Order: sequence, then C-alpha cells, then structure tokens
Amino acid sequence: MAPSPVDDPGNVKVVVRCRAFLKREKEKGTQCLIRMDPATQKTTLLAPAESDHPNSRSKVYEDKEFTFDKSFWSHDLDDPQYAHQEDVYRSFGEEFLDHNFDGYHTCIFAYGQTGSGKSYTMMGTPEQPGLIPRTCEELFERIQQEPSPNTNYHVLVSYFEVYNEHVRDLLQPRTNPPIYLKIRESQVEGVYVQNLTEAPVRNYADVERLMKVGDMSRTTAATKMNDTSSRSHAVFTIRLKQITHSLLSDETIERTARMRLVDLAGSERAKSTEATGARLKEGGQINKSLTTLGRVIAALADPKRANKNRRTRDVVPYRDSVLTWLLKDSLGGNSKTAMVACVAPADYEETLSTLRYADQAKRIRTRALVNQ
Ligand code: ADP
Repeated sequence: MAPSPVDDPGNVKVVVRCRAFLKREKEKGTQCLIRMDPATQKTTLLAPAESDHPNSRSKVYEDKEFTFDKSFWSHDLDDPQYAHQEDVYRSFGEEFLDHNFDGYHTCIFAYGQTGSGKSYTMMGTPEQPGLIPRTCEELFERIQQEPSPNTNYHVLVSYFEVYNEHVRDLLQPRTNPPIYLKIRESQVEGVYVQNLTEAPVRNYADVERLMKVGDMSRTTAATKMNDTSSRSHAVFTIRLKQITHSLLSDETIERTARMRLVDLAGSERAKSTEATGARLKEGGQINKSLTTLGRVIAALADPKRANKNRRTRDVVPYRDSVLTWLLKDSLGGNSKTAMVACVAPADYEETLSTLRYADQAKRIRTRALVNQ
C-alpha cells in the first residue's frame, strides 16, 4: 500500500525557474536581477541600479534571498548551467509520473507574471516541448513497457480553462454564447467539472491532437503588456486507470491516479496592463482566483492564524474561487503537488511578489496535513 501522506512530509515541492533573456532584451543590454546557485538552490533577487528605480520615492530596493527545492537557471541560453526543458522534466516531472504509477494524484502548476515562461515550462514549443508533452510521451512509453500481461491501462484526457470564474471545455468547439460548465463535489469523485469531455487516448499522437485542439480554443486576449499573453487558467488533466487482474485470487483491482497540469494566468495586477473596461474586469476576476489561491496557500501554511482570522468552519477558503475549489484535492489533500514559480530575469517588483508567493507555498509541506 502507498504510504499515507501523514508519513510523507514532502507533499509540496516548490521550484523556481528563471527564463532566459529574449533576443530584444539581450540586445538592449538589460541588467539581470536574478542570481541562482544550483549547488545550494539559493535564489537571490538583486536590487536594480538606482537609475532603474521606477518609483524610488516610495519603494525600498534591496537584495533578497530565498531558498527553494530547486532553482532552474540561467538568463543566458549559452550559459552551460542553463536548464533546458529536458532538465526541468528530469528533475521532477519524471518523479511525478512515478507517483502516478504508484497510485497518487499529482498536480503541477506554473505561477508567475505574463511573459515569465509559464506556458513555455508547461506546454513548450514543438522544438522545445515542456512538461505536459514530455509527461504524456513518457506515460505511454511506460505503459508499453509494462511487464505484466495482467495489467491494463486506460488513459483519459480532459482540458478546460477557467476564465472570468467560468469553466469552459477546451475539447469542445467554441459556441456563441459560450457554454459554461458547473462544478460539483461528491464523496466518490471529490470536486469535478460536470459534463466535461474526458477523451480516451491510446497513444501519444492522440494526446498531441487533443493538446492542439485545446490550445487553439484557449482564450487569448491582447493586452498592452504582452499581445500573446493568455488571461485564463488552463487545466490539463490526465486520468490513469491501472487495471490488474490477479490470477491467484481471481480479483480485478482498479487504481486511478489523476495528474493535473496547470498553466495559471499572469499574476501581475490588472492596473499594470493599463487595461480598462471589460479587460480590467477580467483582470479583477483573474486576480480573484489568484488572490484566493494566495489565501488558500497562506491558510495551509499557517492554519493557526487562518483559524483566528475566520469565524466560519471552512478554514481553508477553497470555495471562494473556481480555481481553488477545483484544485482543492491538489492543495493540502492526498496529492503530490509542485509549484513552478516562473520569473523573468529583469523585473524586481513582479519577481519579488512571485518569490514571496512561492516562499509561502514552501511552508505548506508539513502543515497541510492538519487540514485533511
Ligand atoms: P507566460 O506563459 O508566462 O506568459 P511564455 O511561456 O509565453 O510566458 O514565455 C515568454 C517568452 O519567453 C516566450 O517567447 C518563450 O519562448 C520565452 N521563454 C520562456 N521561458 C524560457 C526559457 N526558460 N528559456 C528560453 N526562453 C524562454
């Protein structure tokens, strides 16, 4: 039997990844504000040069140091220490797949400002595939290598987005008006999306087709900050059913593990995109999910304080936003979770806010179990 999470304090892993400078940033000679030491996993955010302080009257700029489970570095593609997609996958993606085959649920989510490398880390590009395609490819390789003729696998894929606190199936054609799905909770299923497409897949090519369908359907809206940024949270889920027939006892044992791979919307505040009207409202909604995620993390990191501050019995405010309700089982439940904090190499304020968020998530590991 798999050990219960009580025996295993390592349920939440927090890693940080600094993206490389883009060509235009490099050409401008932008100053890098991040240092990472792969030997100690220390990440240092460096105070920008005085001439680069945007609001120097009100803000204090100083070097800040953090330590995470893993630091993926560097800002320079030619640096021998530069962490490639393969390195990131081998470092913990592979291990998470092991957990799935052992029957655990897992969740990997990428957090960070727009343009910090979340989509690159999760989905990647055709030339540089990220965690999702690598996980799926290896999943089918492992299934093919299964030595026991009495073990069969069924794999199901779903892909949805949370946009403006609405859930939309990315594997169904877009409709006008859009069809929003409801969230339900049951004792057997936990929290789930009602009527969500769960497509059976037999091989990696099937998954690739679905990823393409979903990505094309994903809501993207041009903002002044980054015209390819996505303003929605995208949740890719694989359900792995392992069915073993025991010849000795003539029993069939079914074990299901679910892996969630989440690309969160940009964590920057709505005002920094200079957006107005509908777009601003959208920004507010995105922040509602992200702020609630922050509160959930804070409550899991320090349940005593959360208890004092809230009178309701629901100490961890999972239900306050769609995203956190859906990720309830993945945060503080019987799930192995990894947060990938993505940072750009030259944005002091946004990076500080991401690193603080990640630092708090790091503290979930031992106390989350109290909330089960
Ligand atoms: P986000 O999803 O956070 O908005 P993207 O994943 O779209 O950010 O990344 C922004 C840009 O940076 C893209 O052009 C992407 O290819 C590039 N990029 C992101 N991470 C890396 C990395 N680790 N190494 C090299 N380029 C990266």
